[in-house]
Amino acid sequence: MLYTFEVFPPKPTSPVERVTGCFSALASLQPDFISVTYGAGGGLNGGAITCALAERLKNEFGVRPVAHLPCIGYTREEIIRTADALASRGIRDVLALRGDRTDDRPQEGDFRYAADLIAFLREHWGFHILAACYPETHPEAASPAADIRHLREKVDAGAEHLISQLFFDNTLFYRFLERCDIAGISVPIEAGIMPVVNAKQIRRMVGLCGASLPRKFAAVLARFEDDPKSLRDAGIAYAIDQIVDLAAHGVDGVHLYTMNDPEVARRITDATRSLVQVSA
Ligand code: FAD
Repeated sequence: MLYTFEVFPPKPTSPVERVTGCFSALASLQPDFISVTYGAGGGLNGGAITCALAERLKNEFGVRPVAHLPCIGYTREEIIRTADALASRGIRDVLALRGDRTDDRPQEGDFRYAADLIAFLREHWGFHILAACYPETHPEAASPAADIRHLREKVDAGAEHLISQLFFDNTLFYRFLERCDIAGISVPIEAGIMPVVNAKQIRRMVGLCGASLPRKFAAVLARFEDDPKSLRDAGIAYAIDQIVDLAAHGVDGVHLYTMNDPEVARRITDATRSLVQVSA
């Protein structure tokens, strides 16, 4: 079973050490890879910084990096420049995305969907390509069935590994795996787990991605949202509980949205390391 992490770059106004400071602690937990987001939270500078952080993960911390690469608003030439920069730094793994629609990004570009980017990367570079998937259906999808059809198109275009949007209800993930199976999607699918350690952050994330909040989870939030230490402990315990259940169901992997917090990642890893190994 794969066990992987995600980090995000600092805002353009913040020092890069704010993020690299946590790399050593995350690397010591020996994840299979650490992915670095692009643009999300880092503004349009995300390309250069994502590339630089992925390179540092590889060269200084001995971790396999995965660089996120969204295509929304970018021209073909801009994508070529970024892909060349990644390849020349020896970064072999790319999470190819359409990208979030944000106010600071142009909406038009040369690639409409992630599948278009995947086909382009596949044709011109030898990257190992990953893609995003949505257990609760992407918010813009015409229907769950259409979303799965488009997911299959990403795999057919060359995505060899999928990472899911965060979710808090494992049963929704298991149903999603069944739909993927029926659609003939057979690449590894990692479950995206976000530990809730801050009520404001989780409301923002849930607002953005539309993850449903099971009653058990809503009760944790309602009870502890004004008590940061208890919410942190409860959020970590909830994530561990989800991972135990996922490991017991033999999932392909768990992708931990670390929110650049190595202490949270360490507590979760310490509690689940043996499960992750025995279910491999
Ligand atoms: P797509 O696969 O292109 O799908 C987008 C929508 O279009 C879906 O509703 C899909 O059903 C629909 N669709 C696809 N093909 C067609 C078609 N042919 N006809 C009609 N409809 C179609 N965003 C960032 O900006 N930076 C990041 O670093 C980042 N990292 C992420 C990491 C993970 C693990 C995940 C799950 C998401 C991440 N995102 C990131 C967010 C992501 O970019 C958004 O969710 C975005 O809205 C969709 O991206 P996608 O690659 O899944 O798009």
